[in-house]
Amino acid sequence: MLSLFIAITVISLFAISIAILSSNNESPIIEKTNQNKIEAIEKVLPQTQCGDCSFNGCQPYAEALAQNKTDINRCLPGGDETVKELAVLLGTKIKPLYKESKDTNIVALIDESICIGCVKCISACPVDAILGAPKQMHSIINQYCTGCELCIAPCPVDCISMVKAS
Ligand code: SF4
Ligand code: SF4
Ligand code: SF4
Repeated sequence: MLSLFIAITVISLFAISIAILSSNNESPIIEKTNQNKIEAIEKVLPQTQCGDCSFNGCQPYAEALAQNKTDINRCLPGGDETVKELAVLLGTKIKPLYKESKDTNIVALIDESICIGCVKCISACPVDAILGAPKQMHSIINQYCTGCELCIAPCPVDCISMVKAS
C-alpha cells in the first residue's frame, strides 16, 4: 500500500513538473540551443551593423533567422556568399539576394566643396569607408562603401549623396 502511494506521488510530481516546464516559454535547454544557433549565424554575418537587412544590426537579424522569422537573403553586404553559408548552416535552400527595396550598386559621394569637416559621417559609417580629419575635406573609399546610407542623415550640410558605383 505504501509503495502504491509512493508510486502515485512520484507520477504526480513528474506530471506537475512537465506541466510547469511546458507552461514556461522555453526550457533552459531550448534557450541554450537557440543561443548557440544565434551565435553560429552571427559568425556568418559581416558584422557591419549597416541595417540593410531591415533589422537594427546583425544580431537582431541573426535572432530573427534563428526563429525562422525572416529570409536568409537579406544581408546585402554579405552578398551571395553569405546567403550560401546561411543556407548550409540552417539547412535550407539558397535564394537570390533580396534586392527589390534597394539598388545594391551604389556608393556614397561627398561634395567636397560643401563639406565642413565635422567628422559626423565618419562616426556613422559602420565599415570605415570615409577618410578625413576634423576641419578637413572628407571623401569615400568606394571599395569599402556598402551603400548603407547611414552617413547621409548625420551630415549637417547635406553634402552626401548616393551615386552609381563606377
Ligand atoms: S545587412 Fe548584413 S551586415 Fe548589415 S546589419 Fe544586416 S546582417 Fe549585419
Ligand atoms: S553609405 Fe556611408 S555610412 Fe554606409 S558604408 Fe558608405 S560611406 Fe559608410
Ligand atoms: S558629415 Fe558632412 S560635412 Fe561633416 S565631414 Fe561628413 S561630409 Fe563633411
